[in-house]
Amino acid sequence: MTFDYDLFVIGGGSGGVRAARVAAGEAGAKVALAEEDRYGGTCVIRGCVPKKLMVFASEYAGVCEDAAAYGWKLTNDGFDWRAFRAKLEGELDRLEGIYRNLLKGSGVETFDQRASVVDAHTVRLADGTQKSAKHILLAMGGRPVKPEIEGAELGITSNDIFHLDQLPKRVLIIGGGYIACEFAGILNGLGSKVTQYYRGAQILRGFDDEARGLVSEEMIQSGIDLHLGTDVLSLKKDGENIIAKATNGTEEAFDQVFFATGRVPNTDNMGLTEVGVALGRKGEVEVDAYSQTAVPSIYAVGDITDRANLTPVAIREGMAFVETVFKGNPTKPDHDLIPTAIFTQPEMGTVGLSEEEARAAGPIEVYCSSFKPMQQSFAGRADRVLMKLVVCADTRRVLGCHIVAPAAGEMIQLAGIAVKMGATKEDFDRTCAVHPTMAEEIVTMRNPTRSHK
Ligand SMILES: Cc1cc2nc3c(=O)[nH]c(=O)nc-3n(C[C@H](O)[C@H](O)[C@H](O)COP(=O)(O)OP(=O)(O)OC[C@H]3O[C@@H](n4cnc5c(N)ncnc54)[C@H](O)[C@@H]3O)c2cc1C
Repeated sequence: MTFDYDLFVIGGGSGGVRAARVAAGEAGAKVALAEEDRYGGTCVIRGCVPKKLMVFASEYAGVCEDAAAYGWKLTNDGFDWRAFRAKLEGELDRLEGIYRNLLKGSGVETFDQRASVVDAHTVRLADGTQKSAKHILLAMGGRPVKPEIEGAELGITSNDIFHLDQLPKRVLIIGGGYIACEFAGILNGLGSKVTQYYRGAQILRGFDDEARGLVSEEMIQSGIDLHLGTDVLSLKKDGENIIAKATNGTEEAFDQVFFATGRVPNTDNMGLTEVGVALGRKGEVEVDAYSQTAVPSIYAVGDITDRANLTPVAIREGMAFVETVFKGNPTKPDHDLIPTAIFTQPEMGTVGLSEEEARAAGPIEVYCSSFKPMQQSFAGRADRVLMKLVVCADTRRVLGCHIVAPAAGEMIQLAGIAVKMGATKEDFDRTCAVHPTMAEEIVTMRNPTRSHK
């Protein structure tokens, strides 16, 4: 049987672009890719990249004050959102161009339109044409969802935040996940008065309790009005104001309401269940350890599979797929010990098990240090940082490392190597400290803070 292509990829985000260009460029496959919006996907256009640039922008807020403590005389004339937004848009255009060129340079044929699945080897493009392929890769990512409450249409999501005409003076952020907390810090830094409602007992569910507890305290100390155990009931418009009615009995006025209340996979109206691809409860594509769906010729990578929804994971799943299908080297993407950062202020970097998870699995020792970092302390700030190791009492392996500190993301990338290699607490101890740094604490914590038998 002959096909138009060896591989047809649906979705030009992190996972799809990497798989397409490696299959074409390195494995010599004939590849096509359809993208209905912009190349680069969530990460480049409406996720990691613009978000991180906004984090950088917001972190300049305290620079004049801090610099004054170090003897500088700087003046702060305020933040110009429109100037920043124009620069941001230019940068995203540049990055999208790079993604397009990478595909072109690898010989991938692109279709700037929506695609859906017709059968195990056929996709239909929005213009009605059909293309056949030996393999189809689903890489359509996800999208934010709003809760089904009265007035939800008055709120925005992370997709809209980068396009605002002006920054809200008063913003309500709903949610307690990493996107909610990161944008609380960003908007607070950029000068908005931020209120955050989260219906759970603590933000950043699933992460180490002590680490998220410190992030939460520092967020409150920086001026974010965080309400835990609180949810929004309805929104209504009153002139320029949006009135949010909450479960705590308040009715408060905001200029903008931002829902960061979860994401769902883009599997609607794709013809997937019709051809036999199994979907899970959230609509995610069910795959085996090799990213293969219930239809042998159809694979899926990235957020669409709802495994670990992170850019580097989508990329690695895409590469493992190419190894398996086009390079004759069956490869399972490795989801164990993924280091990750939450770009709150302060940042959190984490790898491995939380204290709570490790404790449930067996006897552990916990090494923990919380202190005021030199740079901020000298500037008169009360900020605290946290360094924490969770250690298996039997094997002495470091099971988890949790850091709350400026640049924690940079630190955890390196600590992640040691943890992934199976380093023991004694390996950490044998490593000479780099002085004076915050990170040196990670190799100088001699006595356990507590043990769990
Ligand atoms: C606000 C925000 C911040 C984030 N920050 C981070 C971070 O700091 N670090 C990190 O690692 N991850 C972060 N993420 C997550 C990261 O962006 C995703 O995990 C990653 O982009 C997933 O890649 P993907 O290839 O699976 O999907 P996506 O990047 O979402 O790409 C899917 C593409 O498919 C296209 N598409 C969908 N349906 C179709 C169709 N039928 N036909 C054609 N095209 C279609 C979409 O337009 C999109 O371009 C963030 C996400 C958000 C929303």
